[in-house]
Amino acid sequence: MAKKESGSSYSFFDKQMAMNSVSKLEMGNHLRQSMDRNELEIVYQPQIDCQLGKVIGVEALLRWNHTTKGYISPSEFIPIAEEMGFIVAIGEWVMRGACQQMKDWHNMLQEPLTVSVNLSVKQLNDERFVDKVIQILEETGLEAKYLEIEITENVAMRDDQLEALGRLRKLGIAISVDDFGTHYSSLSYLKRFPVTKIKLDQSFVRGVQTDDKDRAMIKAIISVAKSFQLQIIAEGVETEEQARFLVANGCSQIQGYYFFQPMSADQTQVTLQMSMQSKLDFMNRI
Ligand code: C2E
Ligand code: MG
Ligand code: MG
Ligand code: MG
Repeated sequence: MAKKESGSSYSFFDKQMAMNSVSKLEMGNHLRQSMDRNELEIVYQPQIDCQLGKVIGVEALLRWNHTTKGYISPSEFIPIAEEMGFIVAIGEWVMRGACQQMKDWHNMLQEPLTVSVNLSVKQLNDERFVDKVIQILEETGLEAKYLEIEITENVAMRDDQLEALGRLRKLGIAISVDDFGTHYSSLSYLKRFPVTKIKLDQSFVRGVQTDDKDRAMIKAIISVAKSFQLQIIAEGVETEEQARFLVANGCSQIQGYYFFQPMSADQTQVTLQMSMQSKLDFMNRI
């Protein structure tokens, strides 16, 4: 009682918190049913190698088309799925769908394309995770070397997660560090973890034309990748200037709206076919 009398800020704060948790719970309950209701969809964003001048792979990105609320961003619902404990089920659904789709494209196109799947650290914490991945590869027939998992740096990475990543790597799965450079643990991470690729975060790419520090950051990260003999891809590339700067500085793999937005599986297939027939002149665009 004393608290409430002392000022309105408390009760406002309480109400706000209560509302947030109600809508979160509501959203979470809908999300739980989203797979059965066919509300989830995987879209794909092509990854380009500007040196080779073709699409080399795609990143699988999850979409939720909510019946009444419309499209909800994964940045909004993934944290809820993590908190409420069904990211493991959703993550498995994405992994299976993406691997099956890539296997179909391999059969159709006879091209060694890769598929990258984003992973929540909660999935790595699940002790059955690696076995699930092995099972999915067996079921779909996709060779492990065409699967890449994307993880974000996590300061609190544990030894069992390290072990899981080691097992995945031994299978031949590629391991990529997403949003590289935006956390504190970047360099020690590269020493401890079986990483094969760095994804240069879009926040640095955004500053290519305007910010000396972003340009310096990009050059430094490219040099780190080279020293550790890792592949590097830039994400969030939206302009010709950004693409040109990246390629000139040794980062030839590019992903971003400048070339392609994430697209439905059908649209992606058309793009992959055109890339194979050399109908997309990427070199000419940088
Ligand atoms: P991310 O893995 O770093 O993915 C890149 C995000 O940038 C995607 O947003 C993509 O659509 C967007 N993007 C791509 N090119 C451009 C560009 O040129 N400009 C700009 N401004 N943005 C671009 P999206 O699809 O909304 O996904 C957001 C985040 O949600 C992802 O970030 C990833 O962390 C997470 N996510 C997406 N799908 C999954 C999933 O299946 N599982 C898990 N655990 N997380 C996922
Ligand atoms: Mg990603
Ligand atoms: Mg990213
Ligand atoms: Mg991100």
